Amino acid sequence: MIEFELHSPNSLAEAFSLLETYGEDARVMAGGTALVLQMKQRLAQPGHVISLRRVGGLNRIEESANGSAGLKIGALCAQQQVATSPLVKTKLPLVAETYQHVATPRIRYMASVGGGLVHGDPSQDPPPSLIALGASLTLTSASGQRVVSMEDFLIDYYETDVQPGEILTDIFIPSAPAGSGAAYLKFLPRTADDYATVAVAAVVTPGPGNVCQDVRIALGAVGTTAIHATQAEEILLGRPLTEENIRAASASVKDVVDPLDDYRGSADYKREMAEVFTRRAIQQALANAGR
Ligand SMILES: Cc1cc2nc3c(=O)[nH]c(=O)nc-3n(C[C@H](O)[C@H](O)[C@H](O)COP(=O)(O)OP(=O)(O)OC[C@H]3O[C@@H](n4cnc5c(N)ncnc54)[C@H](O)[C@@H]3O)c2cc1C
Repeated sequence: MIEFELHSPNSLAEAFSLLETYGEDARVMAGGTALVLQMKQRLAQPGHVISLRRVGGLNRIEESANGSAGLKIGALCAQQQVATSPLVKTKLPLVAETYQHVATPRIRYMASVGGGLVHGDPSQDPPPSLIALGASLTLTSASGQRVVSMEDFLIDYYETDVQPGEILTDIFIPSAPAGSGAAYLKFLPRTADDYATVAVAAVVTPGPGNVCQDVRIALGAVGTTAIHATQAEEILLGRPLTEENIRAASASVKDVVDPLDDYRGSADYKREMAEVFTRRAIQQALANAGR
């Protein structure tokens, strides 16, 4: 029998006070889809679980109020809410599409945006697309707020940059550059609701003469965290988006990925697939940009 005390604060202030009182013996819970499994497996054994469900104001999707183009998504938004939101589909189609790839609707209705990101599983779908779009996360505590980029937030295998007393309250995702095309490709040879074997997100902006004006590429499931493929970006930036250059950029990811051997495939196989799916993601992004 797993024993713990469940707390359901009605405000962030109450949640912070509970975190202060119970310290390391407390864990916050959003959808519970990851935390409850960890508790059942005895990987997490908090004496106090602080449910965020009743905390208001954390489940909105809204256009940025600070003048920057993009969307602010509350950490408690259900992943299905993001996948189906007309605002997200219009303003950030890559994000809506990426969340449609997470597990099954049953999981997506329970799992929150914030819970997924804090969980830090390197095979999750959202991080590559959020890195490719330059998303940032707001962490709030009793003493204030700080903003961390998506890629800096991911520290290691299941380790993310949440400090004691902090709660992830929202993420900001900037709009993709004008004229860009974006793609998220998830390679999953087993079942349609599995975690990715390899995943790649690409946002590419072709300019005059098909020269690459801007590019962001990130991969998932092939390292201890999602990986920002800056080397591949450098190969493309300022150069024509030819088949040859795209192949060279895609080949470079093999040097930065570090996949594990597991039942989804050997590390060598995943390294090969990382190259193949990077190439396809760049090509798909270009096609989506109308090239
Ligand atoms: C069967 C199954 C299949 C899945 N398949 C996929 C998949 O294909 N792709 C994919 O991307 N994901 C997949 N997932 C993972 C799923 O996305 C995560 O379980 C989910 O995102 C966690 O969200 P949650 O709200 O339930 O988090 P919780 O379980 O509530 O919390 C997860 C962690 O985050 C912490 N936390 C939660 N919210 C906050 C917050 N606001 N601030 C600070 N800390 C917080 C908790 O303390 C805990 O450590 C799958 C999960 C299951 C169970």
